[in-house]
Formats: sequence, structure tokens, C-alpha cells
Amino acid sequence: MRNLVQPSNEVPGLQRISSCCAAPGTTDESAANPLPPPPPLAKRAAMKVLLIGSGGREHALAWKLAQSPLLTRLFAAPGNPGIGTVAELVALDPADHAAVIAFCTSESIDLVVVGPEVPLVAGIADDLAAAGIRVFGPSRAAAQLEGSKGYTKDLCAEARIPTAAYRRFTSAGPAKAYVGDRGAPIVVKADGLAAGKGVTVAETVDEAHAAIDACFEGALGTAGAEVVVEEFLAGEEASFFALSDGVTVIPFGTAQDHKRVGEGDTGPNTGGMGAYSPAPIVTPALAARVMDEIIRPTVSTMAKRDAPFRGVLYAGLMITAEGPKLIEYNVRFGDPETQVLMPRLDSDLLALLAAVADGRLAEMSPRWSDDAALTVVMAAEGYPGSHAKGSPIGGLDAAATIHGATVFQAGTALRDGRLVAHGGRVLNVTARGDSIAQAQERAYEAAAKIVWPEGFYRRDIGWRAIGRVVAG
Ligand code: ATP
Repeated sequence: MRNLVQPSNEVPGLQRISSCCAAPGTTDESAANPLPPPPPLAKRAAMKVLLIGSGGREHALAWKLAQSPLLTRLFAAPGNPGIGTVAELVALDPADHAAVIAFCTSESIDLVVVGPEVPLVAGIADDLAAAGIRVFGPSRAAAQLEGSKGYTKDLCAEARIPTAAYRRFTSAGPAKAYVGDRGAPIVVKADGLAAGKGVTVAETVDEAHAAIDACFEGALGTAGAEVVVEEFLAGEEASFFALSDGVTVIPFGTAQDHKRVGEGDTGPNTGGMGAYSPAPIVTPALAARVMDEIIRPTVSTMAKRDAPFRGVLYAGLMITAEGPKLIEYNVRFGDPETQVLMPRLDSDLLALLAAVADGRLAEMSPRWSDDAALTVVMAAEGYPGSHAKGSPIGGLDAAATIHGATVFQAGTALRDGRLVAHGGRVLNVTARGDSIAQAQERAYEAAAKIVWPEGFYRRDIGWRAIGRVVAG
């Protein structure tokens, strides 16, 4: 192993690590990229970019990409009205790879940035690469890190990555017998993508059995055809991001989110009601452990499997009494975590993403602001249950006048020229500040300017981090 030691602004003293399982000749680059590679992107003075996706994460990415001096034109497919303020919206279905390729060819797109996981797991990066189009995002094979929980657990076992003890099952009987042996609490997970609905943290054996039955009876479609049953881990959760070009891997920020809908982290799970960055629990020493024990072994094992990981690796961690353990991998940026990472990134995002696509990440050193950022999700009344669409939203311009504040749009639409709610999580009211407490104060000041009676938001985003500072 060869380590390139480079200090990072975000986590002083943290090593930038070039993972070298990747000894020359061990990674079959040509298999993943059959066409001769075009000239390195980051060496080009100007780039046309297509961003795939339509949520708050993509608005934050578009907002940051639009600030790049390398950018000439930014397209987004399909985008949303907020993204439309910084990009040209294209009515493309990301599931229609042939249509995406045709658009890229006709517009001479230099780089495609894929936001969500579904097109990655469906192989959009492979199809673009086969058509000679540069892409930021992993291949179908590498996207299995998110697309199959069993795949990731087996990889952890092979590479000795700390994670919850587990077993994989393809039928209910043996899964229930295992639960009976282990007892509760225990965690039942559908193997495939289930839009955040595939995990049951069961407090009783009966609850675990019901979750197993639901999976095998088809409640989650093909995602539940296989089930992972794993040990319950106690601790505090944190999100850790790393960029990888398949060989070099560098840390790319930390965040924590609030999954429960209610204040005090109560009530049903959601896609995330707010987030902040950096995560105070991830100290420089802990971040170095995460890189050494989790991220770097993952990237080197993927390269050994001829599935080099190129993109952003988002590790969901449980910080336990024994140290950090991997809960899950995502193969794309987080939502709403991206909304707090992008405002803190001082470097040019486009140059970094292009370097990942070109395999030149070793040349890059992302710079981060010392500021913190916090985002408050405004959701439609009723979310995460049923909620109405179409209520009008105002006050976005007033919110943006608050110092350090930016409003990212997640589930919005334009109706007769008016902005209306068009999803469960609708707005991400985000602010920077010199501390999480100041970012929180500004975000809530901005949220108070938004005029949307049919929306709601939690008033305590960041409570744990602010409590930690006060206690500390
Ligand atoms: P999401 O789509 O929200 O990222 P997911 O459906 O991919 O989630 P996981 O992230 O694996 O699933 O799990 C969802 C949540 O369940 C975690 O954030 C964590 O709170 C809890 N969880 C998962 N595994 C465990 C575990 N082994 N022990 C304790 N809690 C767990």
C-alpha cells in the first residue's frame, strides 16, 4: 500500500490515501472503458455538462457546478424549477439510456453527472462509457455496493471491514430460524433498492418475522427476493463521503441527518428532515480510522474484483463503542447531505468530478471552508404519509436575503408561472455560519420567511451537534 499524505482543510491531519490494490496491471481499466479515452476533461478549458436527477441534491450540485469557471453550459434532466434557475432543463427520462446518449451526442456533452442511484444500478454509466461519453458515477458492477446489501456484506467479510454480523437468506423459514437463534433487537433488510423502505429495525422477534414475511411475500417487489438479517448496532450515526477514481480515494466531507419526522427524533422514518456538516462526532482521528478500516479496503477490494469504484462513495456509519462500523453504502451523493456539503466546498466541483471521470484524482486536493452548514427540510403536511400536491409557495426571494442562506428546491413544480409543492420533501432551507449553531439560526430565520401554510418543518435540526458543543 502506498499512502500519499496530504492535509485536508476539513479534517486536519487526515491522510489522503492512494489505494493501490491497484498495482499496475491488476485493474482492467479497458474492460470498463472499451473505447479509446477522450482527452482528459480537466485539461479542457470549457465543458458542457449534463446533470441527471430532479431533487434537492441535484439543485445543490447544479448550484455548485454553475459556479465553475470550466463550465460553458449546464443541462439538467429532468431537473426542477430551482435547478432551472442555474441550468437548462431537458425533458429526458433517465431510464431511457438511448435517449440520454442521443442528447449527449447531439449537444457534445463533455461530462454526465449522475445524481440518483436508480440509473447507476441500471447501468447508465456503462452505457454512456460504451458510447464514448464521460460520466461521473460508478458502473453497474460497482453500483452493487448500493444495489445489493448482501453484496456489500460479503465484501465487508472478505476485506475484514467492521460491520454488523449478518446472514443472507432466499426463503423465510431459515431467516426466521436465524432470528429465533439470535433474538431481538435485530435488523431485517431487503437486499435490493427499496427507496428507504426496505429496512426494519425490529425490537421483537415477531416484528422481525413479519418483516421477513413481507419481503418474501413480495411487498417490496424484487428488492425483497433476498433478505439480509443482521445484528443490531448501538451508537450514533454519521455520513462519510469519499471520492474515488478507482485507484485514488480521498475523503470528501462528513454530515449527519435527522431521519425521523418529529422533533426529538421521534415518529416515522423519512428520507431526511434536515442535516448539518461537518459531523462533530467524526474527529480527525475517527476519520482516519474510517479511511483505513472501511473506505480504502472497499476501494481496493472493488478494484481486485474488476469493478473499480469511480464516483462518490457515501458510507452510512454507526459510531459504536468499539469504533466506526459500516451500516450501508450509497454510490451517489446523499440527500439532504449534499445540500450541506456543497455550500462548504471551496474548490471547483466540476474540476473534481472531471478528475474522477479521468482517473486523475491523485492531482486534486479539495479545499473546504471552516464554516458549518445546516439545512432544514420543509415538507408537505402529512409527509411521510399521504400529502397533497399543488399548494402555492412564496417567500423564496425573502429567504435568500438572510446572510449565508440558500434555498434548494426538491419537490417543486411551476403551475401557471407559480411555484407549487410537488412532492413530500419540497424545500431545503440551507445556511452557512461560523458554527452549526449560527448556521441553524440563519436557516430558521430564512425558513420563517417562506410563505407556505401547507408545509411544515422540524424546529430542532442540529440539536445533537449543538448539544455536543455546549456539553463539550
Ligand atoms: P436509506 O435509503 O435511508 O439510506 P436504506 O434503506 O438504504 O436507508 P440502511 O441505511 O441500511 O437502509 O438502514 C436504514 C436505517 O436503519 C439506518 O440509517 C439506521 O438508522 C438503521 N439501521 C440499519 N442497519 C442497522 C443496524 N445494523 N443496527 C442498527 N440500526 C440499523
